[in-house]
Amino acid sequence: MQRMADIIIKKRDGGVLSKEEIVGLVSGVTDGSVPDYQTAAFLMAVYFKGMSREETVALTLAMAHSGEMADLSAIEGIKADKHSTGGVGDKTTLVLAPIVAACGVKVAKMSGRGLGHTGGTVDKIESIPGVTTEFTPEEFFAIVNRVGACVAGQSGNLAPADKKLYALRDVTGTIEEVSLIAGSIMSKKLASGSDCILLDVKTGTGAFMKTVDDAKRLARVMVGIGTDAGKNTVALITDMNSPLGFAIGSTLEVIEAIDVLRGRGPDDLTEMCMQLAGNMLYQAGKGNLDECIALAKEAVASGKAFAKLKEIIAAQGGDIDAPGLYQKASVISDVLSPESGYIGGMNTEKCGLASVVLGAGRETKESSIDFHAGIMLKKKTGDYVEKGEALAEFHTNMPERVKDAEELFLSGFKFQDTKPAAVPLIYGRVTKEDL
Ligand code: URA
Repeated sequence: MQRMADIIIKKRDGGVLSKEEIVGLVSGVTDGSVPDYQTAAFLMAVYFKGMSREETVALTLAMAHSGEMADLSAIEGIKADKHSTGGVGDKTTLVLAPIVAACGVKVAKMSGRGLGHTGGTVDKIESIPGVTTEFTPEEFFAIVNRVGACVAGQSGNLAPADKKLYALRDVTGTIEEVSLIAGSIMSKKLASGSDCILLDVKTGTGAFMKTVDDAKRLARVMVGIGTDAGKNTVALITDMNSPLGFAIGSTLEVIEAIDVLRGRGPDDLTEMCMQLAGNMLYQAGKGNLDECIALAKEAVASGKAFAKLKEIIAAQGGDIDAPGLYQKASVISDVLSPESGYIGGMNTEKCGLASVVLGAGRETKESSIDFHAGIMLKKKTGDYVEKGEALAEFHTNMPERVKDAEELFLSGFKFQDTKPAAVPLIYGRVTKEDL
């Protein structure tokens, strides 16, 4: 391989890397011959200079092939997968996997950990006492075949280059770049072998893509890569100007996901889950989109999806009735509104970061997560609040951090005299026909 320093300099100066350079770099990252400091410098150069479509495709394929390419042929039937670009309070996988499995479509889901201010499904599901997300391929296939779904962590050998880049991006300010996000997500999706891929591309103050246009750009790049690889790939552009639901933080989110499956979840989260589940069922050929959304709703109303969640969790070694899931952090404190008025907007990234300060996310690669830490919102954008009324509850085992978290959280709120116009939950859908 060319000297790593030369590759960094070429990208820093806005050059276009060749496929060979990208393949060499990814293999050096994977085998450890490229040290973290050079990888971090490279990521920062890409953050500022971006990558062409050809470079992004080369990066994605090199990362996908940096480890094993899963062969899911041992799992019968169509396998549907979905991946979010990252949000706050986004616990949809915990709801979708049982709904889709209850409707007869297999979900062989490989999920990630928290990234920056956003939470990760693996951290959330591991907060259920006893649950494991580490399986041999044979164990993983057996669970999916038997119960219809399994949520596994990114095994050491699935896109290991992404695993390293992801952890470094998380702590070096290099997350929000289209080619890095597209490469990260699509390398895992291609390596993990499902037939259908639904991408939930978030936009807004809590998303990595702050504008609908940027989210659409990212969606098109990812749908293009998936389609070229022969996968049925669709993206929904969804709102992340407010957290989804009210809960932020591992166990708080699991409990809220269970509420959705029992038909008593928050409206926004429930609606989003029905749309996402409906799209996954549609991609898997279960009917037209309206019929598939109706199937998803029926799976919840009949109790089948909730029963399926119990089965999935039990198959992964856990128990959703275990008291440890419902245990509370040692300190629960109210955050009071400094003003009276309508909440005109909230900076959702700051909500996510405040939850990290409380212990719900990682501040360095080595940090561990406090499963019981987080935020329960009491009010969201569009609600009226009186001065001194609770906007949220903070849950933490580090009371000395409450003040900093509160300052951060409140600095994202806008109050106004009039009720703000509602924003859509879903801004659009990108399919191969839109490319
Ligand atoms: N999710 C991923 O897997 N990768 C990213 O880069 C962002 C969200």
